[in-house]
Amino acid sequence: KLSSPAQVEFYQAAEEVLECLRPLFERQPHYLQHSIIERMVEPERQIMFRVCWLDDAGCVQVNKGYRIQFNSALGPYKGGLRFHPSVTAGTIKFLGFEQIFKNALTGLPIGGGKGGSDFDPKGKSDNEIMRFCQAFMSELYRHIGPTRDVPAGDIGVGAREIGYMYGQYKRLTGRYEGVLTGKGLNWGGSLGRKEATGYGAVYFAQNMLAARGETLEGKTCLVSGAGNVSIYTIEKLYELGATPITCSDSRGTVHDPKGIDLGLLKQLKEVKRVSLEEYLSEHPDAHYISARDYPQDGHAVWHIKADAAFPCATQNELTELDAQTLLANQVTCVSEGANMPSTTEAVDCFLAAKIAYGPGKAANAGGVATSQLEMAQNSSMEQWPLEKVDQKLKEIMANIYQQCATTAEEFGDPTNLVLGANIAGFRKVADAMIEQGVM
Ligand code: NDP
Repeated sequence: KLSSPAQVEFYQAAEEVLECLRPLFERQPHYLQHSIIERMVEPERQIMFRVCWLDDAGCVQVNKGYRIQFNSALGPYKGGLRFHPSVTAGTIKFLGFEQIFKNALTGLPIGGGKGGSDFDPKGKSDNEIMRFCQAFMSELYRHIGPTRDVPAGDIGVGAREIGYMYGQYKRLTGRYEGVLTGKGLNWGGSLGRKEATGYGAVYFAQNMLAARGETLEGKTCLVSGAGNVSIYTIEKLYELGATPITCSDSRGTVHDPKGIDLGLLKQLKEVKRVSLEEYLSEHPDAHYISARDYPQDGHAVWHIKADAAFPCATQNELTELDAQTLLANQVTCVSEGANMPSTTEAVDCFLAAKIAYGPGKAANAGGVATSQLEMAQNSSMEQWPLEKVDQKLKEIMANIYQQCATTAEEFGDPTNLVLGANIAGFRKVADAMIEQGVM
């Protein structure tokens, strides 16, 4: 069944979880009697829809839209929307599946969901983005709600897109409510949400290193991506005394041995939305490696010497060759800001080497956790100060690390946080499903 060519990424994600659950089922076979696995790999609901919109030339454009409501045992469906031309039903299914366990690890009352479209925001005018978002929400609005399903951002969906979708939801329903997270600060957003995934991935690394008697201070770090997660990973690394020396986008990699110029990176990607190649116009001494010149079966970022690595772009961006190169260069810590950025073979290399390796579903859970804090603020009509949100984020990340480490130890493989994350997340969801009866 798992060898079917469709939904490759979903099978990759599911296989990893199922492999990790083997020792749990040996000790607690009652999970098998309740057919929990069969129920958990099947989404509660998958919605696919047509999105028609007018481009600036007045031509009708058609895209595919998706929302997958995977598991509601722990709370309303929660997970981002991805707008990228590579999006398929399989991509959304893998992301939704990962989201179930990630959300369980946060300890907050949120179920797992995900959505998106094969729409490519690159090169579109602001008006085209708005019309697409309005068209997308014109179908999605009937399936979501503040206690039902609360989408957020992901690749290609930031504050601008959330704003246009929120406006359309309000127009269609007449309700001003917390139906999306990642909203603007003066209309229901939470302080600290934009930064949360990146900051959380760094806090997770901090926890992993502390358990080994180390800190991030003085360490050089490799970061991939140049979007929301990467930018705030870089920001927090600087705050903790580390030096991030790389970033990348789909066209190439910047290596700045002095440390990435964060102000310039924000300007290029958050304001101007241009290629990273322009980084060199202000820093001609930095290196730019075009994607055409990447090693075969590898990514340039992971071939630069450093102490720690933070994959923050997309799935399967770190291959076996990359993992072997990182290990040969004596990288001792990998914390995943992206979802499933390391291939199965790369993960095996990290686990065999027993380095501090934080899998995405644990290390990047700070984003969704802070989204839930945004939901809590919306339902009580409050706005919390940044210090309160950040303190909660730190506590949540420390707690996720502890759950992963304790569970890994319980199952006799103390450095294997993949095992710990999957078993700890699974148990919470499975127990809730059993208690709520067959449905
Ligand atoms: P953004 O769209 O803000 O940034 C994505 C970055 O990755 C961009 O620099 C983009 O390059 C690059 N990228 C995307 N796809 C590819 C690709 N196929 N090949 C090479 N580079 C690529 O997204 P986010 O920062 O929000 O998300 C990054 C990762 O983090 C994703 O895996 C996402 O699922 C995960 N994540 C995000 C959360 C959030 O709160 N935003 C929460 C938890 C996980 P370019 O600019 O050229 O497109």
